[in-house]
Amino acid sequence: MSFFIPGRTRCALCDEPIAQRADAAQLPFVSPTVLPEWAKLSRAFVLRRCWEHWPHRDTYARAARELVLSAPEQPSLRRRFEHEGLFLFEVPAVKGFRILDTWAPLTVDVPGQDAARLASAVVEAFARRTALAQDVGPGRWTLDPTEGDGWVLTLSQEGEPFERLQLPAARQVLWTELMTELLRSSSAGTSP
Ligand SMILES: [Zn+2]
Repeated sequence: MSFFIPGRTRCALCDEPIAQRADAAQLPFVSPTVLPEWAKLSRAFVLRRCWEHWPHRDTYARAARELVLSAPEQPSLRRRFEHEGLFLFEVPAVKGFRILDTWAPLTVDVPGQDAARLASAVVEAFARRTALAQDVGPGRWTLDPTEGDGWVLTLSQEGEPFERLQLPAARQVLWTELMTELLRSSSAGTSP
């Protein structure tokens, strides 16, 4: 199922209905030849709390990463960065970027005109450990430090959160590297 209906869409791991999109994550694709028993979960919605405690999380996230890494390079989606399942793609057709984290999991698009401003603000928030609220395209990114040295990332549209997830302290360095590459790629402009 690819459409999320609040209160109707069910968690693919526990079958509970999911009240709101911000409680959910949409799983990335995995190959049926690699993980035949889990391939049906591709694009399914799950409660984030179920995903975080699912014993097969790392196996699934690794398979999803391998699938993206093994795909042939496409001119419509140019890989600019990858580290431990955190990807940055350039999407020339819309002069923008896509961030994919197969482990979180998360997929989010960043319009090109907002990319440099967002990247600088995120790097600065990480460095100073201060909260961030930044308009990005039609939405808003907020980053809030947690007591455990991690972060909560919330993506909202028209004041409604649609993604809310923990960024553990261990992945902050990856996100810093990604944002540094986003800054570099967006400043360089779209290459031919
Ligand atoms: Zn569940």
